[in-house]
Amino acid sequence: MLKFLKNLAWYPPAETKIPWSAILSTFNREPVDFKSVLCNYLNVKHCILAESARVLLYKLLLSLKEREGGNRDEVLIPGYTCYSVAASVAKAGLKIAVYDLDPSTLFADVDSLRRAISEKTLAVVAQHLFGILSPLDEIINSTQQHGAYLIEDAAQAFGKGNELRAPGTLGDFGLFSFGRGKPLPVGGGGALVSNSHQDILNITQIGSEEKGYKQAIVTAATQAISKPYLYWIPEMLPLGLGETVFDPDFNVEGLPRAMESMMAMSLPSLDRLNQHRRKISDIYSEMIDPKLQVLNSDQATSIIRFPVMLTNTMLDKKMKRYGIRQMYPHSIVDEISIKPHLRNKQGLTPGATEIAEKLFTLPTHIGIDERMAKDISILVQKTVRQDLQD
Ligand SMILES: *Cc1c(COP(=O)(O)O)cnc(C)c1O
Repeated sequence: MLKFLKNLAWYPPAETKIPWSAILSTFNREPVDFKSVLCNYLNVKHCILAESARVLLYKLLLSLKEREGGNRDEVLIPGYTCYSVAASVAKAGLKIAVYDLDPSTLFADVDSLRRAISEKTLAVVAQHLFGILSPLDEIINSTQQHGAYLIEDAAQAFGKGNELRAPGTLGDFGLFSFGRGKPLPVGGGGALVSNSHQDILNITQIGSEEKGYKQAIVTAATQAISKPYLYWIPEMLPLGLGETVFDPDFNVEGLPRAMESMMAMSLPSLDRLNQHRRKISDIYSEMIDPKLQVLNSDQATSIIRFPVMLTNTMLDKKMKRYGIRQMYPHSIVDEISIKPHLRNKQGLTPGATEIAEKLFTLPTHIGIDERMAKDISILVQKTVRQDLQD
């Protein structure tokens, strides 16, 4: 019977797990100032909020473009990243330039970055994929040398690990997301922080007329359905959950006031969520062949997913049921819909292409317990052995 039930279970790839009290607080009339809560938590000086991270990135790029008087018209982004980063650049009427990533670490290939950066570069986006902390020193150097701004994309790396300074606080600007599958998955919202550019944040900021009840209800519904015995429902429906599309036509909205309260009320659970993710990652690290791994867990804050590199493997239904997913389907230069917006059109990012082909990610969220993590590790090992035999 148990085995039968287990075969029915669909483990959500990313659970929306925030306290019900936080969701309910949305309907509370007391206004909460999440900006100052976040500034305190991250120990940064300035912060603005909007409906999503992409909105803030787009608005920031517009502000920077205006400030530079149109002399710099391209933004240098990782060759393998969330398509909405590319969408923000395109929407701001700027060209997308890419630098490569090293498939053995998922970090920036610094030589490639040095080749790509120029006096045309308005800003460089550096990322911490899955919450694995990328070394930034060399990127900061190159960016400063060329007089560009550094935007640290910490959408996947929210939290304080053992580092002196939290990810997102090292660049000129730091970007955070509170959408589904992010470290604090409130169901929407983004933040942009800075220590040194209050003036730019001031002209970038955007207000909202919305109360935010609708978002709160969606968040509550997602949370309710993210259970192993219910999750097959959204999986079967054409909701496009977890789909990656390049869409520069997104709405530009501020953050509804009520969402701020949900964020503020959920923030205290962030450290616990991250600890859980680290615990699950440690099990994967121990049980999975080190040759398949890219993560050194000392370098991670949130580890929203655990990356493994699998060769010749197809994502089958069983892996999907266990919450295993490939990430972005293509590297930025290989994505046809992005091509018209690219500055350097050739296949300049072989590392990113390799990552797009081989990268699989294992779930680490709070719905995955130690037993599940062991089962998933065994499944990965078995899949790899089978693929070797085929
Ligand atoms: C999710 C994500 C974004 C965009 O965040 P939204 O709030 O969905 O706009 C940007 N960069 C990275 C690396 C992301 O994972």
